[in-house]
Amino acid sequence: MSELLVLGAGLGGLSTALLLARDGHRVTVVERDGDPPPADPELAWSRWDRHGVNQFRMPHYMLPRWRQLMQRELPDVLADLVAGGAAAINPLDLANPKHTGGRWDGDERFHTVTARRPVLESALARAAQNEPGVTVRRGTAIRAVSTGTPTRPGVPHVTGLVTETGEEIRADLVIDASGRRSTVPALLAAAGARPGTEQREDCGFVYQTRHFRARSGGGTPQVVAAFIQDYPGLTILTLPADNDTWAVAFVISARDRELLGLREPRAWDAAMATFPLAAHWMDGDPISGVDVIAGIEDRIRRYVVDAGPTMTGLLPVADAWACTNPSLGRGSSIGLLHACALRDLLRDNASDQPGELAMSWDERTRAEVQPWYRLTLDYDRHRLAEVDAHREGRVYRTDDPAWARTKTLANAAGRHPEVLRGVLDISALLATPQEVIDRTGIAELLDPAAESRQLPGPDRTQLLAAVAV
Ligand SMILES: Cc1cc2nc3c(=O)[nH]c(=O)nc-3n(C[C@H](O)[C@H](O)[C@H](O)COP(=O)(O)OP(=O)(O)OC[C@H]3O[C@@H](n4cnc5c(N)ncnc54)[C@H](O)[C@@H]3O)c2cc1C
Repeated sequence: MSELLVLGAGLGGLSTALLLARDGHRVTVVERDGDPPPADPELAWSRWDRHGVNQFRMPHYMLPRWRQLMQRELPDVLADLVAGGAAAINPLDLANPKHTGGRWDGDERFHTVTARRPVLESALARAAQNEPGVTVRRGTAIRAVSTGTPTRPGVPHVTGLVTETGEEIRADLVIDASGRRSTVPALLAAAGARPGTEQREDCGFVYQTRHFRARSGGGTPQVVAAFIQDYPGLTILTLPADNDTWAVAFVISARDRELLGLREPRAWDAAMATFPLAAHWMDGDPISGVDVIAGIEDRIRRYVVDAGPTMTGLLPVADAWACTNPSLGRGSSIGLLHACALRDLLRDNASDQPGELAMSWDERTRAEVQPWYRLTLDYDRHRLAEVDAHREGRVYRTDDPAWARTKTLANAAGRHPEVLRGVLDISALLATPQEVIDRTGIAELLDPAAESRQLPGPDRTQLLAAVAV
């Protein structure tokens, strides 16, 4: 058993803390925001002050992979979520049997449990609060790392964190789960660590989101199209959540100045009304205005350079390690996979050498989790280029066979239930596109020359007229 310190009590940090405590470690979580998690989902939605999480009021859809991992690793938290009104759904049950072929053996893998972000996080936070091996210190901001005797020459060894009040909290290992905006690289630099590597770029998308609640007697809107609807020039998300609520979002290119007006509720409503497959998702009472988030980065970092660690004693997990454009809803699933990998590493790692631990974490991350990051990033780049091309009236062309493969699979999913399940496996983070194509009989169903099916919606002039209201 060791003393572990987790920086950040978001979705990734709380999951990590629970997994590690249940594996016999003593875990302290430090979180800058002071508010404790409300027990009631509506208070979590309306009152919980979580300034540290920019995306707190953005749509969060939990993928089947996340549900499967939660079922295996933290089943009590999942049960608590469901008891608290989370939506427990299987998208295949909601779709037209004409397209799905009805229920098949194995379809239960697409089952998921999802909720508004504050509701998801409050369930994890309550579990952490009640977990014997976890102490959560809210209202504790970190301003520095503390270091001890280096175990490798010129490589600082982190021994704890220093709070804004100057208190030093020591630990055998520090885990950075402080999210997209983690300042840990700067804290490490201040402690003398040479820089790690970082690749970052603005993902180029802007999210304009409203949440709704069913009117009395009405339920969640009927699902007549995929939850992620790609149109020329923009994407619409229609995502069920907990307690008869749901999120609807426009995802536009940040370069599309004309659509920035969608941040006005009247323009947003008028524009959504022009999309026949999405308009009925406004049939409810709005429980938010239009919440906007922009400047979202795709970013990945490593603390191993030239085959050696830049520091020891601290490991990054979840968004603090890597984050992407969230429209595929993968962040929490990738974060939970990463948290499980960390728990397994600490379980397997016989060495008490911090340098070896840092190297093993880097290797395990690259082997087990990074491929999902890369696939997501590649998808994002193509989709942004496609959105920008459509806005300019061009057809997007690329030599990248991976994008052609994605499009071909999506086309065939509308015609063949086998391919539909393959595409769902990809979006559920259960299989890679190549793994789906390699399945027996799938390649024969694909027709790269088939015309892309376009969802019904307004043309650009009609859309801009609606935004101009
Ligand atoms: C617009 C948007 C939509 C998304 N939608 C989805 C979705 O549909 N499905 C999905 O799975 N994922 C989604 N995500 C991704 C998901 O939100 C993240 O992957 C997830 O929150 C990462 O968890 P985390 O714990 O790493 O970071 P976070 O949840 O961001 O938590 C970081 C925590 O660290 C704390 N902190 C930071 N610095 C300090 C400090 N110095 N001292 C103390 N505390 C500190 C912060 O206050 C915060 O509580 C979305 C993201 C965005 C931006």
